[in-house]
Amino acid sequence: ARTVHQIQSGQVIVDLCSVVKELVENGLDAGATSIEVRFKNQGLDSIEVQDNGSGISKENYETLALKHYTSKLSTYADLSSLQTFGFRGEALSSLCALSKFSVTTCMASDAPKGSRLEFETSGKLRGTGVVAAQKGTTVTVEGLFHNLPVRRRELERNIKREWNRVIGVLNQYACIKTGLKFSVSQQPNKGKRMILFSTKGNQTTRDNIVNVFGAKTLAVLIPLDLKLELEPTSTPGQKWNTQNDDTIHEVYIRGHVSRPAHGEGRQTPDRQMFFVNGRPCGLPQFAKVFNEVYKSYNASQSPFIFADIQLDTHLYDVNVSPDKRTILLHDQNRMLGNLRESLVALFASQDY
Ligand code: ADP
Ligand code: MG
Repeated sequence: ARTVHQIQSGQVIVDLCSVVKELVENGLDAGATSIEVRFKNQGLDSIEVQDNGSGISKENYETLALKHYTSKLSTYADLSSLQTFGFRGEALSSLCALSKFSVTTCMASDAPKGSRLEFETSGKLRGTGVVAAQKGTTVTVEGLFHNLPVRRRELERNIKREWNRVIGVLNQYACIKTGLKFSVSQQPNKGKRMILFSTKGNQTTRDNIVNVFGAKTLAVLIPLDLKLELEPTSTPGQKWNTQNDDTIHEVYIRGHVSRPAHGEGRQTPDRQMFFVNGRPCGLPQFAKVFNEVYKSYNASQSPFIFADIQLDTHLYDVNVSPDKRTILLHDQNRMLGNLRESLVALFASQDY
């Protein structure tokens, strides 16, 4: 039974990036206004995520890391209008199976005393102890994949690429979340811990971008505020058509993008970040449209893109992959066509 659990767990926690995502999202789901992500040796030694959210109540200690335990999904209907990031109840149970895993947590009423929880690989609570703690939860993951030698070696071999992806995803959370203090630090094998970037609980995504990428970035950005209108269509068998509505759907694309510059423009970091209703995701087809339109002005550079696609929850499906990073969008090709036209118009309206 344990082997089966390990294999299945491997599907939620597939790499370093999914560990980080799941833990950060748990902190956000817990209502944190401050999240600290700390790596040792780029996560190969440990990953620690500390939040100042609700904390975990004592009744939940036993079940916390059991498979399919979740406190978040109350009715099936919640699935289609997902507000919280989590819902599968698989992250913590997977981490128990795949790492040396522990949790320290404290609810406001108990501070400054908290509990440190340790678990068996099966997710069963092994024991608790009393520790000093502030309100919130700290999850520590050490030796990821230590019991799956092939996967562990793979992680070590690809750590450079993995690390870049991790930082990319953390940049996304840091930039999109307003009102959140978010900090990421790393301690190399030999050497001091260093803060890689941090945001200060800003009210705007602009200020977050300044914190993460530096004030220079702003000089080249213009606001992105596009409205796309999608006619009703019918694609049989798709979930968004079961409702049979014939309204025109409005889709907004909001954020920031590099101002196109003829010839040699100012260098911008070629960061490209996409979100759907504030949820970080990869949208390569959208990136392609931005890049193509931008390159008609400046062939030698790629733009900085921060684009949040805002649309009705029934117009997309995030549950197509376990890491919820792949997103199916309703009528994507038409959306992309509209986006291209709007971008051409936006860039044409700029003064040079
Ligand atoms: P899910 O997020 O899908 O519910 P997880 O395995 O990620 O499943 O977490 C299991 C449960 O543990 C959550 O439903 C929540 O009740 C609790 N939990 C996990 N992390 C935190 C946290 N940082 N703060 C408060 N509660 C947490
Ligand atoms: Mg979760």
